[in-house]
Amino acid sequence: MDLGRIIDISMELNEKTVVWKEDDPPKLEPVARIPDAPVNFTWLHFGSHAGTHIDAPFYLYKDGWTTDQIPLERLMGRCQVLDLTGIEDTITAADLKDHEINREKVLLKTKNSYDLLIAYNPRHVVMDESAARYLVEQGVTTLGYDYQSFEREGRNDIHRIFLSKGITIIDNLRLKDAEQKEYHLICLPLKVTGIDGAPARAILIDEEEHG
Ligand SMILES: [Zn+2]
Repeated sequence: MDLGRIIDISMELNEKTVVWKEDDPPKLEPVARIPDAPVNFTWLHFGSHAGTHIDAPFYLYKDGWTTDQIPLERLMGRCQVLDLTGIEDTITAADLKDHEINREKVLLKTKNSYDLLIAYNPRHVVMDESAARYLVEQGVTTLGYDYQSFEREGRNDIHRIFLSKGITIIDNLRLKDAEQKEYHLICLPLKVTGIDGAPARAILIDEEEHG
């Protein structure tokens, strides 16, 4: 199958992965290693929101969809990358109105995609309520972002605007190599059931570029 150029927009998940500042870092425990053991085998210990992951409505709503209940159509298909890298601090509705939003799946590329990810950056780019409400009004059903959260200090006000509407959130994307245009998105979260978040591999396929 001639797919086009593939851009991996996932974060590396290892013991150095920057996670929410109050979470333990991921631990990849080498339970067995060759030659002392017949195989290499590793236990994975990390939170449901470590690295690139999806947020399910269950994160904030006990009767909301859990990760496994999110329809895969939400995570695959045409998407639009908006270049917001000119914004230093907070994305507002006015910033978004400079762009024409015509897809239900929208990924926001900010300066966060250029963060070196050495430590949690408490001043990462965020969005305000006006921006969130504008995205809802535009009919966005899947929203990708390039940091752990759209808001600071563990607040969930912006999350509530999206998750109360059942909008699917993909966090911790790495969009440095993506341009402002349309791509085909494939984001497949692990099928962990009954919980609030799940690690995912996310890629963009540039259908204009066939190698
Ligand atoms: Zn999350």
